Amino acid sequence: MGLQERLATIEQAFRRTFGDGQGLTIGRAPGRVNLIGEHTDYNDGFIFPMAIDFDIVMAARKRSDQMVKIHAVDLGRTVEFSLMTPLTPDAEEGWSNYPKGVLWAMQQEGARLPGLEMAFSGTIPLGSGLSSSAALEVATAIVVQKLTGFQSALPALARLCQRAENDFVGMRCGIMDQFISLMGERGHALFLDCRSLSYEQIPLQLGTYKILICQSGVKHSLVDSEYNSRREQCETGVRILAERYPAVRALRDVTVEMLNNCENRLSLVVYKRCLHVITENERVLKSIQALKAGDLVAFGELINQSHDSLRDFYEVSCEEVDLLVELAREVPGVLGARITGGGFGGCTVNLIRADAVRDFIGYVLSKYKEETGIEARVYLSTAAGGAELIQNGVNNN
Ligand code: ADP
Ligand code: MG
Repeated sequence: MGLQERLATIEQAFRRTFGDGQGLTIGRAPGRVNLIGEHTDYNDGFIFPMAIDFDIVMAARKRSDQMVKIHAVDLGRTVEFSLMTPLTPDAEEGWSNYPKGVLWAMQQEGARLPGLEMAFSGTIPLGSGLSSSAALEVATAIVVQKLTGFQSALPALARLCQRAENDFVGMRCGIMDQFISLMGERGHALFLDCRSLSYEQIPLQLGTYKILICQSGVKHSLVDSEYNSRREQCETGVRILAERYPAVRALRDVTVEMLNNCENRLSLVVYKRCLHVITENERVLKSIQALKAGDLVAFGELINQSHDSLRDFYEVSCEEVDLLVELAREVPGVLGARITGGGFGGCTVNLIRADAVRDFIGYVLSKYKEETGIEARVYLSTAAGGAELIQNGVNNN
């Protein structure tokens, strides 16, 4: 469905839910795929995501009272709540906590919000690691910002959305998803230093190659608990490393040599977690160099190394995704394949020659189905633009 059609659909849904579709402010925010730099964001490290051609579109307007009504078109659900009492997470309608959390975070920053009517719909598969949650937060943020005059500079707005997810939804994610959804630039992937939030838009010149995302169709329930335990293991590593190297505040400050000097004080598990993060940061830096030099083979090799490290040292892969990666690497024309996102299922990202996509679909998907019984899905995406307001189908920011 093209953007025009989707706008028509969302306006129609808005009218059905709220009586008429007058005076709407509409915005869209994309999902993302991280090309390399996994589990580095919460370690003050480097990441390299790109926004994708899949997004959330949200339409909203003010109300004259203090009620907020939010309609999830894709779920056919609506919530409403009053701004007269403090906002609290909704245990039943979990989806509503992402937009509600953004309103909450704005209030925390002193915004006095008016009542609102909002409706949204998306093309990002839910819960597959392509960050539909951040897209929903960011779409909410830019639309509500436009409607209410609440002002926040761009990187600060990403932080605000992250706080909504951390402190209202209760998911301890890093800054990546919200940042790239907001700041993505068409044709570029974004190199972000998660400590300083300084960034560089890197042209993604892939020539005859493409980024192919493959959704494993698996989501093991350990994701959240394992994610939190990885964060704790990294913190433990930092604490111990800082005893010997007081300047160390995050794994970002550690080299492999420093880690090895402390090896005997670290448990094997903590050592392996730290080793992944430290080498992954190096791989991001090398990837940027490789891309600037037009060396896609080197970039692909780094992508492969990233997966192996996530599988062996960070231990966040799973059998199904390992299989997808192995099969992908057997396809001539695939330069690199790795797991992307939090882990334990979700998606792989593949650097693949355009004319090999057909073989990928024919070989990887059918072998995978044969061995696991699961249908994987393939998404091709260019490097998309970040969140923007839309007026009558015309992007206006
Ligand atoms: P991911 O961000 O990788 O897609 P999450 O578990 O972080 O996975 O976020 C997915 C959740 O975000 C969904 O379970 C739902 O609550 C909410 N969400 C995302 N997109 C939509 C949508 N189009 N409609 C309703 N809820 C959505
Ligand atoms: Mg998410």
